[in-house]
Amino acid sequence: MGLKRPDCQECQRLWQEYSDAVFDYVRLDGQLKMALLRDEEDAVEELRKSAAVAVARRDSAQARFREHETTHPVRAATA
Ligand SMILES: [Zn+2]
Repeated sequence: MGLKRPDCQECQRLWQEYSDAVFDYVRLDGQLKMALLRDEEDAVEELRKSAAVAVARRDSAQARFREHETTHPVRAATA
């Protein structure tokens, strides 16, 4: 995946949303691993929930981006 239409504002907006969601998930996943290492049960439970929400957000942002991308006319690849 990547930004195929850097000139399209909607692409930029949706891509930013997706990037933010990915960043959020990576951050939460890192915190979850630390909490697991430290055996912090309460934190682990909270972080698992937050990470699940972040994954859903990431996936829906990715789906919205891809769906939007299909609205652009397909051009033949030029070398
Ligand atoms: Zn676009």
